[in-house]
Order: sequence, then C-alpha cells, then structure tokens
Amino acid sequence: MVDRVLVTLDGAVRDADAPLLFADDIGVLRGDGVFETVLVRGGNACALEFHLGRLRRSAQALDLPEPELGRWREAVERAAKEWGSDREGLLRLVLTRGRDSDLPGVREKVTSGDLAAAVPVPTSYVLVLPVPARVAVARTDGVAVVTLSRGISIDLAQAAPWQLLGAKTLSYATNMAALRFANRMGADDVIFTSTENRVLEGPRSSVVIARDKQLITPPSKNGVLPGVTQRALFAEAEKAGWDCQYKSLFTADLLTCDSIWLLSSITLAARVNSLDGLRMSAPDNAGEIIELVDRGIARAGVIGDW
Ligand code: PLP
Repeated sequence: MVDRVLVTLDGAVRDADAPLLFADDIGVLRGDGVFETVLVRGGNACALEFHLGRLRRSAQALDLPEPELGRWREAVERAAKEWGSDREGLLRLVLTRGRDSDLPGVREKVTSGDLAAAVPVPTSYVLVLPVPARVAVARTDGVAVVTLSRGISIDLAQAAPWQLLGAKTLSYATNMAALRFANRMGADDVIFTSTENRVLEGPRSSVVIARDKQLITPPSKNGVLPGVTQRALFAEAEKAGWDCQYKSLFTADLLTCDSIWLLSSITLAARVNSLDGLRMSAPDNAGEIIELVDRGIARAGVIGDW
C-alpha cells in the first residue's frame, strides 16, 4: 500500500521519495505561493471544484499566472486514483512562483537580455499523504480550544489587501506557531480573535456557531479564509431548514451559543469540547451537524464553483 503519492502537472506520477524542488524555489525561500488541502475519500477528491476555484482566486491575489484548472483537475484525479479508495488521504495542491533565479530582474542581470523570456515557471504539484492520527480523535471527541489574539482588526483585509488575508498562501508559519502555543497550554486548537474581540477563524479551520436552528460564521471581509467545508455545511443545512448567516461574532457569542465547530477539509467537523478551559457539553443536535457536513462535502463535488 503506497503511503505517499506525488503527481506533477504534466500528469506524471513521480517517486515521492525523490527530490522535486530546486533549492531556490521562491515558495521555500519566501512562502510565496498558494495551496489547497483536499480530503480523498473513496478514491475521490472531495469538493474539488470549490478547491480549484479558491486556488484560482488565491493565485490572482498573489499575481501568479492563472492556474490551468483542467491540468490541475487531471493531476488531482490521477493522484486520488493512485492513492486508492480503501482509506482517506490528505491531498495538497501546491503552486509556487517558481525559481528565484528565473524572476524578472535577476534573470535580466544574468543574461542582460529579453525580459519576456524571464517569466518564471511556477512550481506545481499534487501530493497525497496519510491523514494525521489527530483527525479521528477530533472528529469523535472534539477539540479543546483556546482563544488567541491575532493582533489585527477586522478592517485589515480591506485596508491592507497586500496582507492577502482571504488567500490560502503558503505562509503558515504564524498559524503553526499559534498551534504550538496552544499545545503548550494543553489545548488542541485555536480560535483567533481580532483587536475588537471579534471571532476570526482557526489556524487551519473556519469557526461556525450553532444557536437554536441557526448557524453563524464570520464573513470573509473580516479577514478570514472562505472555507469550503463551512460552505458545504451551509448549502446542506439550508436545505434541512437551518437559518445560515455570515455575521460578525463577538467572543461573548462563543459562550452563549449551543455549540462551536471548527470546520476544515480534512477533519471536517470538530466540536469545541472546551473553550479557554470551560467545558462545553455536546448538544442533542451534534450528530445532525456532523451528518450535514458529511453530506455537504459529498454533494459539493457536483455543485460546482463558488
Ligand atoms: N481558515 C484557515 C486559515 C484554513 O487554513 C482553513 C483550512 O485549512 C480553513 C479556514 C478551512 O477551510 P476549508 O474548509 O476550505 O479547508
């Protein structure tokens, strides 16, 4: 059984244990690139069209060349098939700006030549790895969460678009640092808050709260990534009679709701079982919410683009 699969955009299945990147890849040097993380289930990449749509929008935000979505789709389908249908997989689409020495300016100095020829070739590949063990635990037992300040205002996304808050960039070092900080406090995960005490998102998840028959998530204009899983939940929940809203939430709303959920493509639905040390017991409808996410993800494949 293969435990990793690597496919490049020419459709070639590569040796996943052999080196692929150049040392001067600008994705490595500066985190200058974008990515997507997709769940492989039953040999299929879940909600692929949504992920491809977000990859395109993230690439636009970074002024990267328009991704050739047909080639990405084929590479992903190839990788998911190679992975097989007997277990879940964590599939990543990675797109970087390419090699530093190919960037305009650098190349120009080297060749003193033609700027048109100095367009870097983006680095693009699809990698599938096993789903981490923490995922099964988060799905069944939920997660202990601490709120941490992100130190930013909800206005930052619009005031400073170069911060790329709505794009899924490769620059995740601060998100990973927040998770390590939470782990040292004995927690599993984080909910970031703004300087106005508004709820933002997790380092790798969207936040949704349930209150009566209502589901609420912060809007992307507040500086959070639009989540594929959250969207899939809302599409399915609306059909089931839930009122789904994009609304700013204060941290106090986290304490007065029925349940808090961290939603993401690999873990899907993780219920917050404690918040800043305060235990949160499961509501009666927890199973329904988990089922709506599962169904939403299964159907998102055929809904199409954002
Ligand atoms: N917000 C951030 C910062 C993320 O990194 C992620 C996923 O990795 C999400 C939200 C959830 O997005 P999705 O449901 O598309 O995986």
